[in-house]
Amino acid sequence: MRLLFTILTLSYITIGNSQEDKTTSQENLSYQADKIVKEATTNILNYIGLPPDFKVVQLDIPNVIAYTKHGDRYIGYNPQFIQRLRIQTETDWSAYSVLAHEIGHHLAGHTEKSGKTNPGNELVADHFSGFILQRMGATLEQAESALLSLEKIGGISDTIHHPPILSRITSLAEGWMQAAALNLDHKVLERTYHPENSESKKYLYKCTFNGDENVYYINVNDQVIWFNERGRAIEIGKKLESKSTNFSWKIEYGRSVYGVDAKGIIWSNTNYNSSFKVGKVEEFTYQESAE
Ligand SMILES: [Zn+2]
Repeated sequence: MRLLFTILTLSYITIGNSQEDKTTSQENLSYQADKIVKEATTNILNYIGLPPDFKVVQLDIPNVIAYTKHGDRYIGYNPQFIQRLRIQTETDWSAYSVLAHEIGHHLAGHTEKSGKTNPGNELVADHFSGFILQRMGATLEQAESALLSLEKIGGISDTIHHPPILSRITSLAEGWMQAAALNLDHKVLERTYHPENSESKKYLYKCTFNGDENVYYINVNDQVIWFNERGRAIEIGKKLESKSTNFSWKIEYGRSVYGVDAKGIIWSNTNYNSSFKVGKVEEFTYQESAE
């Protein structure tokens, strides 16, 4: 497979004010985004031996989304977001990375259930993105380029329920290294993560959220932990003190904050200041034996 690494020129951003110029630049932007998004989707699916039968459409959304409609698998994207991403990262791998993330949601079956997403699923999609980009020839740095620049270009994720960016980068790098290990090139495995100290392997609570099959654990360091399929602990959030009298403490991940009451019920606060139950916390004491 041949990837074209065209350094984007800014030529389509015209300085003139005429309506014609604006229309032309919009059309060029749309065209360029359409080309890279379709190329990336097809190449990724080719690479895993599946027919490129996903429907790729431009939508008026903040960034990118995977969904199903009438049994067809769709990827919707905002062309401005794609072009901002390519300009910011100066590589087409960033576009490949976000497309791979969405394809990961489809292939892992996340889009076949309710539209609601959860941090575990997001990390699975990031893992797939890192994995497939390594197989396609991206360096770890290129594979991470999109996640590293998402905050700068004002598009954090496909949903507000995404876990914090560091968790996502960790999961993506895990996928990249898992793929690299298939080549039996052990040198690439030397990059290490902050290993958990023995203290943090003491778990006190387990949390479950409605509509999310994942289980999250809270350790004595107040880290909210999700284990990937290889048993790797990834921190997705924090247990924090709550100032509200209604809650004993709160759970925070990404931009989401949940209150936990004295009975262990997890509550979500809506914008309208009303709360609804989203899950529960159970006490759970487990100390991993010393290695
Ligand atoms: Zn996602």
